[in-house]
Amino acid sequence: MSTEFDVVVIGAGPAGYHAAIRAAQLGLKTACIDAALGKDGQPALGGTCLRVGCIPSKALLDSSRQYWNMQHLFGEHGITADNAKIDVGTMVGRKDKIVKQFTGGIAALFKANKVTPFYGFGQLQPGKRVTVKQHDGSVVELTGKHVVLAAGSDSIELPFAKFDGTHIVDNVGALDFAAVPKRLGVIGAGVIGLELGSVWKRLGAEVTILEAMPDFLGAADAEVSRVALKEFKKQGLDIKLGAKLGKAEVKNGEVHLTYNDGKADVQLTVDKLLVAVGRKAASKGLLADGTGVKLNERGQIEVDAHCRTGVDGIWAVGDCVRGPMLAHKGFEEGIAVAEMIAGLPGHVNFDTIPWVIYTEPEIAWVGKTEQQLKAEGVEYKTGSFPFAAVGRAVAMGEPAGFVKVIAHAETDRVLGMHLVGVGVSELVHEGVLTMEFHGSAEDLARICHAHPTLSEAIHDAAMAVDKRAIHKVN
Ligand code: FAD
Ligand code: NAD
Repeated sequence: MSTEFDVVVIGAGPAGYHAAIRAAQLGLKTACIDAALGKDGQPALGGTCLRVGCIPSKALLDSSRQYWNMQHLFGEHGITADNAKIDVGTMVGRKDKIVKQFTGGIAALFKANKVTPFYGFGQLQPGKRVTVKQHDGSVVELTGKHVVLAAGSDSIELPFAKFDGTHIVDNVGALDFAAVPKRLGVIGAGVIGLELGSVWKRLGAEVTILEAMPDFLGAADAEVSRVALKEFKKQGLDIKLGAKLGKAEVKNGEVHLTYNDGKADVQLTVDKLLVAVGRKAASKGLLADGTGVKLNERGQIEVDAHCRTGVDGIWAVGDCVRGPMLAHKGFEEGIAVAEMIAGLPGHVNFDTIPWVIYTEPEIAWVGKTEQQLKAEGVEYKTGSFPFAAVGRAVAMGEPAGFVKVIAHAETDRVLGMHLVGVGVSELVHEGVLTMEFHGSAEDLARICHAHPTLSEAIHDAAMAVDKRAIHKVN
């Protein structure tokens, strides 16, 4: 087997597999290395996203939403669904099947695009050489004219709440509980804590989320966070802000927590504890001595705006470099790097990367928040519209939330769109498109939106920027 390539990619997660497939499409001889094994012990491509992240979490969010709706929404439609039961094994099995389908799909795409996969741990050596320690213990050495580092990220472990895989878990464990825990503790009211906390709450767990910061979802627009927090509390998620974990001890099959609520130490006992306090770059062991590639103090690979490491021909993309840890950010960086290697222009617009939190209601945004614009001294105007006044949302029984459009005070150019409510994971892309095309609130307001649709909330919010929304008093 050939070991000389135009491009060697380390990591077959969203960033790495996009880089590899795009490079191969552009006629470059490409290899992609990944160390991960699936639940069946076989190599599984697709990274955190496909194995233990985006896709399995959304599979469980969807299963649990069906169960929740059956108990809480069906009644108003006149549908009786007494004695609803959840079989966790079947639900997790469905999730595993979806994961297998998609990880296998990447292997098929590699084959179709002539990307050569290597299964094992890759390490960059000086001189654009890469050693791969394969699962059978053998080592192969590859050379690439270019090497793309796409090693992704791992969960951050708290020293006083170490993962044991059974009682104290990260996302991997929380996607695979064998039964609904009676009491689930979650450390961190971030994206994972809220999404996976919602899954188990909907299935009947008592969920307590301890968040160290005094504000809820500080990165989101403050009004969005306020509405979302109110909705989550209504669903019974017990979110304690300003709660600092002191220790977590497993005793007699229970996890005993001590946290400080700002006034005193408080004890809490749970059956399972999910620690979701962020992720760190998976750069450990990736670089042999003498490669010249630099890591920053957080272990991220140092890169410039074009994902160049500063060592000729070595690039890095995705969660292992700066920027948001999002699959679609990795997709775009992977494609951009492959195109730059092929001599084409490659570019990622960090100003229009959307964020979505797949809770109920969903939360989504693109661009600047009001808080950010105030801090930057930018003059702006806003227009909001509630889903409670959108016929389609009310017909669906999903009136919570709103859309807010933020536009520049003078130019009317859209600077941000913030949404909380049903289906906003899809709607946010109207904001992304408008911002990519440097559109104005008036542009959005003058675009015909089908009736009755959820997207009418965006139309009216854009009209409200100029105080001419039709379906509310401006
Ligand atoms: P990864 O997906 O982490 O892939 C890196 C790959 O490289 C892994 O397969 C790893 O095994 C391999 N690797 C690492 N080092 C080596 C080495 N030295 N040799 C060989 N192989 C190596 N993002 C979203 O945008 N939307 C979501 O809904 C979403 N949901 C998430 C839910 C959860 C529970 C989690 C944990 C994350 C979620 N994310 C989501 C984040 C998303 O999964 C990551 O941003 C994305 O996977 C990063 O892609 P990546 O390619 O940079 O890294
Ligand atoms: P996060 O950064 O979203 O949230 C971590 C939370 O934990 C923060 O609110 C932080 O203040 C809190 N925290 C930190 N230390 C703490 C402590 N000692 N005690 C209590 N709270 C503490 O991180 P995450 O939820 O672990 O997710 C990791 C990354 O994965 C996210 O940043 C995101 O990029 C990605 N992700 C994305 C999605 C999505 O796009 N829908 C879903 C899941 C994960």
